[in-house]
Amino acid sequence: MSPTDRLSLISRHFDYSNAHDVPLNTPFSIERESSRVVDDFNNKSNPFKGQQQKRDFSHSAPSLQEEAKEEKPPTENMSKQAPHPTLLIPGPIEFDDEVLNSMSHYSEAHVGPAFVAVFGETLSMLRKVLLTENPKGQPFILSGSGTLGWDQVAANLTEPGDEALVLHTGYFADSFADCFETYGVKATQLKAPIGDRPQLPEIEKALKEKKYKVITVTHTDTSTGVKSDLKPLAELVRRVSPETLIVVDGVCSVGCEEIRFDEWDLDVVLTASQKALGCPAGLSIVLASQRAMESFKARKTRPTSYFASWKNWTPIMQNYEAKKPSYFATPSPQLIHALNTSLKQILSKPMEERFETHKQQSLRIKKAIEGFGLKQLATKPENQAHGMTAIWLPEGITPPDVLPSLLKKGVIFAGGLHKEVAAKYVRFGHMGVSVTDPKRDDIDRAIQALKDSLVEVGYKAPS
Ligand SMILES: *Cc1c(COP(=O)(O)O)cnc(C)c1O
Repeated sequence: MSPTDRLSLISRHFDYSNAHDVPLNTPFSIERESSRVVDDFNNKSNPFKGQQQKRDFSHSAPSLQEEAKEEKPPTENMSKQAPHPTLLIPGPIEFDDEVLNSMSHYSEAHVGPAFVAVFGETLSMLRKVLLTENPKGQPFILSGSGTLGWDQVAANLTEPGDEALVLHTGYFADSFADCFETYGVKATQLKAPIGDRPQLPEIEKALKEKKYKVITVTHTDTSTGVKSDLKPLAELVRRVSPETLIVVDGVCSVGCEEIRFDEWDLDVVLTASQKALGCPAGLSIVLASQRAMESFKARKTRPTSYFASWKNWTPIMQNYEAKKPSYFATPSPQLIHALNTSLKQILSKPMEERFETHKQQSLRIKKAIEGFGLKQLATKPENQAHGMTAIWLPEGITPPDVLPSLLKKGVIFAGGLHKEVAAKYVRFGHMGVSVTDPKRDDIDRAIQALKDSLVEVGYKAPS
């Protein structure tokens, strides 16, 4: 997308939200409007006001954790966080107390042995989350957001003039393609109608037409709730174009959807801390295969980014994992502590169980929504993501009609994001503790709030 196109898109969103004077949780509007959401929530109608609790930071992180274990929960929901509306957008998601508490760690040197050990352990745990055992694969955890993963791929795995095939299932493919173009890489998009995904025969045809250095796929496109099927895609690529690197944008899927890095023979999976991994935003998380690292080492030109260069970061990550201090640029110790805690929680049970929990909860949500006469953008069950649901609103009802009403009921959903249909749907994120923590009733409350909000604006569900 050209900068002018992008600007016109932004102003269209602004016009739209101005007209209704209501915040939409889209990347284009959230910055402008978020202060209103907070104001709304702090005004008299805030049902949580008066129950405000102060977070207690006078303890060190370990003693807080100890305390949490010892204390008997006074109620079913024992969160110590200040009362707040439940954040059920497709990232950031709700955080576990222990993850948040581990961020209130005293300051420590980023090259001190204690922190280096925590970072090294976090990298090793990332391998387990992605089900890889090949020591020649390389995890990277960098300060940044999910988007920095695109830059890492474009700057390290492609060279100016290379070709990238971008499978399009929504907004995030447009952006990834734009990222490639920024680095002088030619991106060809293979598109599907909204709610669907490109099919294997067309992908095969495209792969046979020219030599692509990389093929990218958005595992869950957060703008449409469409999930791609990685296993058969990877098999196809290996059969038709074995050297093409398979890059998975797993920002909305790592930690909630099944991903078998070794078994499916993937080359890059990139994600961010704030989605299904349940850690505050601020970390770009990438795993590169042995094949990807060899391809990186065989580059003819130097990486086209300085901060994101794997030349700079590979030795650092390897040293951390070997528990040796080293420095290229200062990491965020507090965020690494939080990620360490959330990965430990995730790995306390088999990954299969986590995938299954997300799947079952997602099926339950989708059934409730369908039972209420609502349709999803992803029409085919096999295309439906398990960490979020993109829901068409009934005819004549727009996100500004329902989002404020949801907020009053203590639930935050996101507005539409796909540029062609943004005003016609909402997005419900159901990842992490909101579905895995049995003490939380987030999902039931959200389903009820959605139904009540729609009825309030005149929707009649089929009986
Ligand atoms: C959220 C998201 C991104 C962007 O991540 P940021 O952390 O916002 O930079 C990229 N791809 C997908 C699929 C996402 O859901």
